[in-house]
Amino acid sequence: MLKQENKTEVIVVGAGAAGIACAITLARAGKQVVLIERGLFAGSKNVFGGAIYTAAVKEIFPEFEANAPLERRNIEHNYAILGEAESTTITYRKNDNSSYSVIRAKFDRWMAEEARKAGVYIVEETVVRELIKEKNRIIGVKTELEDYYADIVVLADGVNSLLAKQIGLRKEIDTKDVALSVKEVIKLDKETINQRFNIKDDEGSIVEIFGGPMLGMLGLGFMYTNTDSVTIGLGITLNELVEANYRPFEILEKLKSHSSIAPLIEGGELKEYSAHLIPEGGYKKIPKLVDNGVMVVGDAAMLVNNLHWEGTNLAMISGKLAAETAIEAIDNNDFSKKMLAGYEKRLKNSFVLKDMKTYKGLFEVAHQRKKALFSYYLKKVNAFFEMFTSSDGVPKKEHYHKFIKSIFTDRKISELFKDAWAILRLLWSILL
Ligand SMILES: Cc1cc2nc3c(=O)[nH]c(=O)nc-3n(C[C@H](O)[C@H](O)[C@H](O)COP(=O)(O)OP(=O)(O)OC[C@H]3O[C@@H](n4cnc5c(N)ncnc54)[C@H](O)[C@@H]3O)c2cc1C
Repeated sequence: MLKQENKTEVIVVGAGAAGIACAITLARAGKQVVLIERGLFAGSKNVFGGAIYTAAVKEIFPEFEANAPLERRNIEHNYAILGEAESTTITYRKNDNSSYSVIRAKFDRWMAEEARKAGVYIVEETVVRELIKEKNRIIGVKTELEDYYADIVVLADGVNSLLAKQIGLRKEIDTKDVALSVKEVIKLDKETINQRFNIKDDEGSIVEIFGGPMLGMLGLGFMYTNTDSVTIGLGITLNELVEANYRPFEILEKLKSHSSIAPLIEGGELKEYSAHLIPEGGYKKIPKLVDNGVMVVGDAAMLVNNLHWEGTNLAMISGKLAAETAIEAIDNNDFSKKMLAGYEKRLKNSFVLKDMKTYKGLFEVAHQRKKALFSYYLKKVNAFFEMFTSSDGVPKKEHYHKFIKSIFTDRKISELFKDAWAILRLLWSILL
């Protein structure tokens, strides 16, 4: 497979969504590509919620709906605001196939198998320790066993990307710019899941959770239905966990025992638990994406749209765009930073960087107005419904007046103005 001993056209480090998309695009164009993965197999180390997004997956695997190991077609999105014991949920239902729940260990393995069939040479159970640099250009990788050389190296090694750090493309991640996520997969039979989530056959439901044990913290919870299991987890900004010395699995235990969540997973059997980081820095924290002989894709490039829980789609498309740039570079025998800057241009023209840019102000506002957005207003939503649904002999008008008065007494008027101003500025930056 290799052109000469241990020399190939492209080495891709990391067989996650980004790396596989990159490698298969290259192989389909007839280029030589080696994909190196530290895990036992592709997907064995990968953690997510999670939903994959049909539009992005179809760009790489047009027939995936007929062949890939999919769990459920997500037809329902629930947004649940948890209080102490009460909760308010907004449900949006649709009947389409825009996203599917999957188990990454199965799905990534399937993608990797497709890549292998397309001609990608996959090296598993191998950690890339460092990059090999010669005359200001990356020319290969060092693994614990041997060195591999290539015209181009693509870093798809995930959120930590030690390799991008080693060559100065990225700085150490600030604990404000990542969330630590913990999750459990709980086994339940298919019929029980269908009954509890009000779905049928292969239909799936997503629950995004605000408040509850995460109240006041920059964090959210999530639930996804798989065929015969339910994924439940949460992600909280790492600096909050460190500062407050919180143990994420204890918070997850509290979430699981909330009166609105516990009945959904009651009687289930814990199948697996895992923890992983999620990039949260947004557009402003995207690192340098290219240098001579090297490109960075997916989580390694911090390409995650947190508000929409989108990461795999940005990863796959960035991998594909890096591959297209590599193909052009190989055809022109030019592996310079200038040539590889074509990847940045392609990203800028795609939804990936456009969406990241749209939300560039989101995390600043979320950090600045955290107590308001992740505590005060959440409590107020539940308080409103408590008032609205109670019938206690007190005239409704009195209840309304009391509720409105509480808005101005529970929070300083100056803070309310600051909240409104921050939100208006954010909306302005999103919409313009
Ligand atoms: C809890 C959680 C929930 C999420 N939910 C969703 C969701 O519902 N939908 C969604 O689209 N996204 C979701 N995401 C984000 C999504 O999982 C990521 O954005 C996506 O997996 C990024 O893909 P990637 O290929 O860049 O990185 P990864 O999938 O992390 O793959 C990186 C690969 O590189 C390998 N690797 C790392 N270092 C080396 C090395 N030195 N040598 C060799 N191999 C190496 C790893 O083993 C791994 O296989 C979620 C993330 C988390 C943590």
